[in-house]
Amino acid sequence: LFNDMLDRMQRYIEQQQQFVEDVSHELRTPVAIIQGHLDLLNRWGKDDPEILSESIAASLQEITRMKSLVQEMLDLSRAEQVEVQFAQEETDAREVGLQVFNNFQMIHPEFTFVLDNDLKKPTITKIYRNHLEQVLIILMDNAVKYSRERREVHMTMAKDQRHVQIVVQDFGEGISEENLAKIFDRFYRVDKARSRDKGGNGLGLAIARRLIEGYHGKLAVESVVNQGSVFRITLPLVTEPKETENKA
Ligand code: ADP
Repeated sequence: LFNDMLDRMQRYIEQQQQFVEDVSHELRTPVAIIQGHLDLLNRWGKDDPEILSESIAASLQEITRMKSLVQEMLDLSRAEQVEVQFAQEETDAREVGLQVFNNFQMIHPEFTFVLDNDLKKPTITKIYRNHLEQVLIILMDNAVKYSRERREVHMTMAKDQRHVQIVVQDFGEGISEENLAKIFDRFYRVDKARSRDKGGNGLGLAIARRLIEGYHGKLAVESVVNQGSVFRITLPLVTEPKETENKA
């Protein structure tokens, strides 16, 4: 028992060290860029109005990136504690799904969104509302970001006796088998440079998976390169014994 505990502590310490290393690595680039611009302005750039405004714009962009990185790291760290904090929360998955779907339709008029909704009534799941919303936004956002010519995203909602399933499908670049295993790791991006252009920190899916697993659900993916990806959320339903008895 004692050895087992020591092993676990050792693993935990290693994970923490790895996390600090990952974070430092991710912060190094924006800090270096801002420093470069400030150095330039400090030496002579401030006297050239064009350089001045370019450098300020570039620095502000990097600061926005750092802000989102810090927020996402906080989200990730909090996602690891949902089990303790939000164990009693319940949410209507149907309502949240519809809301996120409608919002995406509004924000991305250039896309075709297709909804296949089997949930005809409120469908109560054990998850904190904002967390389900956050996960759906991460998946829908990725579906849009990694689409190519075919600008189409499908959302499917269904349930069985015990679970509700929400599926987000795109027809974009897809993910190779080799990368599929890694996309849920924090800071992992298939194409670092390009994904940085799109504003990604590589934390979205890590947050999404930790959140869903914290509520005893599953987040699974299937994907084919150049054909698209399917992300599937499965969450436990809150079953109401009385209602089912009455109906039976
Ligand atoms: P990011 O902020 O980079 O999008 P995520 O954690 O959300 O971070 O995703 C990690 C990586 O997984 C992305 O950089 C991308 O390479 C890949 N990925 C995620 N969703 C999709 C998708 N729908 N289609 C293709 N690739 C995806």
